[in-house]
Amino acid sequence: MSSVFEDLVGQEHISHILMGAVSASRTGSVSQEMTHAWVFTGPPGSGRSSAAVAFAQALICSNHGCGDCNECQSAATGGHPDVEVIRTEGLSIKVEEIRELLTRVAWAPSMGGWRVVVMEDADRLTESAANALLKAIEETGTRTVWLLCAPTLHDVLPTIRSRCRHLQLRTPSIEAVKQVLIKRDNISPTMADFAARVSQGHIGRAKYFATNESVRSNRRMIMQLPLQLGSLAAAFQAAQSLIDIATEEASASSESRDEKEIEKLQEAYGKGATGRGMATGAAKAVKELEKEQKSRATRMVRDSIDGALLGLATFYRDVLMVQSGVTGSMINSDMRFEIENYASNCPDHSAVEKLRAIMEARNHLAMNAAPLVTCEALMCVLARK
Ligand SMILES: [Zn+2]
Repeated sequence: MSSVFEDLVGQEHISHILMGAVSASRTGSVSQEMTHAWVFTGPPGSGRSSAAVAFAQALICSNHGCGDCNECQSAATGGHPDVEVIRTEGLSIKVEEIRELLTRVAWAPSMGGWRVVVMEDADRLTESAANALLKAIEETGTRTVWLLCAPTLHDVLPTIRSRCRHLQLRTPSIEAVKQVLIKRDNISPTMADFAARVSQGHIGRAKYFATNESVRSNRRMIMQLPLQLGSLAAAFQAAQSLIDIATEEASASSESRDEKEIEKLQEAYGKGATGRGMATGAAKAVKELEKEQKSRATRMVRDSIDGALLGLATFYRDVLMVQSGVTGSMINSDMRFEIENYASNCPDHSAVEKLRAIMEARNHLAMNAAPLVTCEALMCVLARK
């Protein structure tokens, strides 16, 4: 028999607990195995929300989550009346949204089993939204199960997390990610292997990388930078290139999303509505959305720069591996020749220093340092012999 838990990549320790909870839930009462509030945490790309959705499917499926029946399928695609998946387009989940949600889920489950709410970004709850949610979670004896997802436990309000059972997902192995790309996404074994390596266990990024030529060519440009640091002028040029590439990649994905959001919002207010109150309401809401989009765009550029720096770090990591005689686990296998050449020409301690400088630059950026200056300082260190 197939099971929705088989699709969770590298999370066997969690599947086991969830299957136990599903069996316990069949008795209909809350027990130690089956409780009504859970937090799924794990690094980006580990599949937090996939795990939560699989659990939701298993709870409402009469076959413990077969993945094939109507129940399972409609739960996954958002069509099941008893399963609600909250995905956040915006930067925060506001108290009004939670209040609306609470009225929707106040009814008993239509099929008589459980009503499940999956919240993909519980870390984006505003404080008042979290407090409103807390009241609902505290209510015992309801048939609603709350599945909250967040990067770490610290991202969830202490009052909420103390009432939830916690499940920590792992970063899946490169081999596990590779197998998913081959089996689920029909990607060739060579590309799947390469994508799994360079995305270091991030399933979503691996798929994006394997299916997107412009992302691959951006990576190639970034990874060439360490080889082009012959002079100070070249170091400054490299810093500018890194910022340009990262910015372009971030805006490519945010622009189309921004437009769609504004369109949707205008539709919600009734596009072309002529009442004066309606028009001011819509204009105000659009303005607010644009403000949110702007700060999200800034964050995405920063994330993208951080991703580029992480990529650079893998270059020096590979150099270190080559210098210590370990070559089997090279991440940038497409640059084997360049990396081996670089390794034989640079002193032993230098790759460690460069790795440290990259991590320091990432820390500075995380504390809101100016991106260009930070990257310029970094490139000057990387240019040292
Ligand atoms: Zn099923």
